[in-house]
Amino acid sequence: MHRLRWRHAARTDVGRIRAHNEDAWLAVPEAGAFAVADGLGGHAGGEVASELAVRLLADALGASGPDRSPRDARETLLAGLRAANRAIREEAYRDPSLRGMGTTVTALLLADDEAFVIGHVGDSRAYRLRDGSLERLTRDHTVVQQLVDRGRLTDEQARLHPRSSVLTRALGIEREVETELYDGRVRAGDRFLLCSDGLTAMLPEDRVRQLLEEAGEPTAVAERLVAAANEAGGADNITVLVLDVLATD
Ligand code: CA
Repeated sequence: MHRLRWRHAARTDVGRIRAHNEDAWLAVPEAGAFAVADGLGGHAGGEVASELAVRLLADALGASGPDRSPRDARETLLAGLRAANRAIREEAYRDPSLRGMGTTVTALLLADDEAFVIGHVGDSRAYRLRDGSLERLTRDHTVVQQLVDRGRLTDEQARLHPRSSVLTRALGIEREVETELYDGRVRAGDRFLLCSDGLTAMLPEDRVRQLLEEAGEPTAVAERLVAAANEAGGADNITVLVLDVLATD
């Protein structure tokens, strides 16, 4: 990655309805490691699960630099998500009030040869804005996404569906976590977004694209995304991580 550098900003917000924020995020910029997590479960469960996930992932993903090969990045992500899955299950076993807790995770690792790898479980998302078009890089593990895949719902109907957040997969639920991996190339000018569904349930994708396309530092972009989700109702916790890839020199 020596021909590229990057800067990022993240914001998390409780929204306008919920009493607690169960989202979490992590950034280890020197390791090219970024993630968002959206916890689920009664009592304190959701908060505990997403915090545990980002803590374990920071250890696992932050241990090596961005000069890892894409293959190493994939293995690092799989190992990190396995470790987080195990830690969440062990904690739920120790404390019965946390039983059933889980979390989504969408984690992005930069790698050599201007590559990125994403490890993904749940319905948080990764997007890339390039040349004015927004590409969704992850597929939700939700019941409504399965209906979209079968042509029964459009993306927009799925977004507005009352059961849009029912997950088919989350970290901490099963003994073995099934992680989805995605990879691709990075180039100067790319703007990545990792976000929880508190953003994407509130805003149509075209609105997300417009907000990402406006010029500005990642901090300003992150803040306007959160503000827009709150203006649209803020029905859930909102977490965004904006990552800009720049040329060196
Ligand atoms: Ca959520």
